[in-house]
Amino acid sequence: AAPMRKSGGAPDAAALLARITHGDRVVFPEVGVTKRQVAEHYLAVADRILPHLDGRPVSFVRAPEGLGAETFFQRHLLPGMKKGFGRIPDPEGRHGDYLTVLGPEGLVTAAQFGVIEFHGWGARQADLDRPDRMVFDFDPDEGLGFDAVRAAARELRAALEAVGLVGFAMVSGGKGLHVVVPLDGTQTWDDVGDFSAGLARGLARADPGRYVAVASKAKRKGRIYVDWLRNRKSATAIVPWSLRARSRASVAVPITWDEVDTVPAADAFDIRAVIDRADPWEGFFSLRQRIDSAALDFLKRS
Ligand code: ATP
Ligand code: MN
Ligand code: MN
Repeated sequence: AAPMRKSGGAPDAAALLARITHGDRVVFPEVGVTKRQVAEHYLAVADRILPHLDGRPVSFVRAPEGLGAETFFQRHLLPGMKKGFGRIPDPEGRHGDYLTVLGPEGLVTAAQFGVIEFHGWGARQADLDRPDRMVFDFDPDEGLGFDAVRAAARELRAALEAVGLVGFAMVSGGKGLHVVVPLDGTQTWDDVGDFSAGLARGLARADPGRYVAVASKAKRKGRIYVDWLRNRKSATAIVPWSLRARSRASVAVPITWDEVDTVPAADAFDIRAVIDRADPWEGFFSLRQRIDSAALDFLKRS
């Protein structure tokens, strides 16, 4: 049956959910979470996740047959994925159109296609060459406790504050923590990449027993990789409030700096824990800040 539309407007939540086929299919076998529950998650967090997705090229992680089968990244629309998505042509004309999510209809259509995770660029369609956020992705080595991750996030926060930048913390839903820094979109990928690389290398140089700024697993032994490579054009990071394709159906969840000290683990919030959680990132979307030129010059020379 055709979905009901509110006076020609967008279909409501019930109409969107009614489009889900095979809704009882178990996607997360360990915790019994179904495809319908994935769609319900995205409707429940729509107001929280959509401002992060707005205009951003996104990649999906899909698990059409559930986590027991193959999962894969995808960054272009599939045939049939029309409603609720926009296309972003590659300005250089080298790649096919990127995709962006336009509203709740896109979230639910994605769930219908087996999408579990949403990963976003650091820039939006209005200017793909001027990032509006910088991400520091802390990747702890296997077996390292979460206390080490908390300490890393706090040290980075202080380093950012020293140059007048405010960062926001998020548990990734996986193993680590991201610090997200909103930017005013006036600086280039080179600036943001160089600055974040400089801070990551600075941490590693000051405390080589705890941090590395290179991806090599061999060099990570007992340390945290400060992954600054999210800050490159076309690189992505998990979007706040995205579900993760991990066994416990955990979610990437924004937290306060106080919660950095108390949250038990990076995957502490599961799909059931986020329904009623208010967004704690006060001021995130109204903050206009840019990387200090003097600090940037200093890091480029160091
Ligand atoms: P965790 O806390 O477990 O590290 P994470 O989301 O930070 O979770 P990472 O492996 O550190 O996972 O990856 C960081 C980001 O890099 C991802 O969120 C994703 O956007 C991007 N990424 C990782 N692997 C791929 C891939 N194969 N293809 C495209 N993007 C990827
Ligand atoms: Mn990570
Ligand atoms: Mn990483």
